[in-house]
Amino acid sequence: MSMITTHDLNMMFSTKVNICGLKDIVDPNYRYKRDLEILKYEGKGNGKKTRFVNINEISLQLHRTPDELTKFLGIDLSTSTNYVDNVAILNGHIRQDDMEKSLRKYIEIFVLCKECGLPEIPKYKLDGKKIKTKCLGCGARNKMDSDDHRLVSYIVSKLKQQKGDKDKKKKKKKEKEQA
Ligand SMILES: [Zn+2]
Repeated sequence: MSMITTHDLNMMFSTKVNICGLKDIVDPNYRYKRDLEILKYEGKGNGKKTRFVNINEISLQLHRTPDELTKFLGIDLSTSTNYVDNVAILNGHIRQDDMEKSLRKYIEIFVLCKECGLPEIPKYKLDGKKIKTKCLGCGARNKMDSDDHRLVSYIVSKLKQQKGDKDKKKKKKKEKEQA
């Protein structure tokens, strides 16, 4: 008979936890919840890898993109990462509590409102080399640049890329209309 591990239990009943940053929020009725990360370990020696299998679900619950979160974890845990087939793959075996710590650091910096502390910031907007946010909970506005965190330059380049794609589409549409 095989042993049932915590990890198996997590798979069976995806555990929900409060969305909190570095400070614990113990209120069981707190309305902002996310899944607990599910990690799978593979490989040996230099080939050790950690697969963060439910990063998509968690990113969605945080209103962020999984590639951005993957990038953050790589920076914070000083390891190389890859986001493929909806899974984040990190080099090395990252312990659950180290991953949790890193994830909560990400939430603290990029997900929670600096004023009210709620995860009520659905998106970023581009402002030159900065990203700006507006909290839907309290209306607070905030700006961040790469001095605040290295990840900001990654987010900025992603936003620029998206904007470029949109502009190209617009241009194509215009050309079609004029033709
Ligand atoms: Zn707020």
